[in-house]
Amino acid sequence: MNLKPLDIKHARILVTNDDGIHAPGLKVLEKIARSLTDDVWVVAPEVEQSGASHSLTVRVPLRIRRLSARRYAVNGTPTDCVLLGMLQILKKHQPDIVLSGVNGGSNLAEDVDHSGTVAGAMEGLMLGSRAVALSQMIRTDGPIHWKTALHYGPRIVRRLVEAPWAPDVFVNVNFPDVPAASVKGIAITCQGRRRLHERITESFDPFGRAYYWIGAPRQDMPSKEETDTAATSSGYISVTPMHLDHSHRGMMRTLQTVFKRK
Ligand code: MN
Repeated sequence: MNLKPLDIKHARILVTNDDGIHAPGLKVLEKIARSLTDDVWVVAPEVEQSGASHSLTVRVPLRIRRLSARRYAVNGTPTDCVLLGMLQILKKHQPDIVLSGVNGGSNLAEDVDHSGTVAGAMEGLMLGSRAVALSQMIRTDGPIHWKTALHYGPRIVRRLVEAPWAPDVFVNVNFPDVPAASVKGIAITCQGRRRLHERITESFDPFGRAYYWIGAPRQDMPSKEETDTAATSSGYISVTPMHLDHSHRGMMRTLQTVFKRK
């Protein structure tokens, strides 16, 4: 059963990110959220957690630092922030939407599995909220086009929550690296794939010892479907509905035959 369309004006939004409480993209997302409703709460990591994926802090205690009304920092990951936001700070009145971002840099293709931004949305969904991850692509050394996310973010979030929403779905939104006026449109996409082989750089420190730096893969794999990578590189905003169930139904049937119960 789909969730009923939400009246965004009366919705409560929880905002988080993985770039940390001081990140410019967080301010962009707060503006997006506040243009939709007055009931906006921010719970974000004290320091950057990019690449933290869906990690959860379990061996050390967490602290919630209140910065101002409805604005908190947590010494943990985006997942910790959403957990504490929903189960502690907002436990009496849960958010209707979790927004995560706006990440400085895209979260396309395999990025989804490494991204703390996307994980923030996943955690929101796991705890029963609608959830959207938002990322602003950065491709050049020039200025970051935050205004593209700021311009299109509110209308995209509004249209998403007004649409029939399947209960196990979160949405991954990526804004292309172009000014708002140059955006070609909004594309509903599937997750792309990239060649991951050339992402390690080996170099040497001043003492002659090797070190390694993990970079971002750039080469997209061709696909017959419209992918997030293809859409954003041709100037479209990519909107990808995703779900958490990793099981593969086809392989399940194959293995049920292979491991046939006697
Ligand atoms: Mn990040």
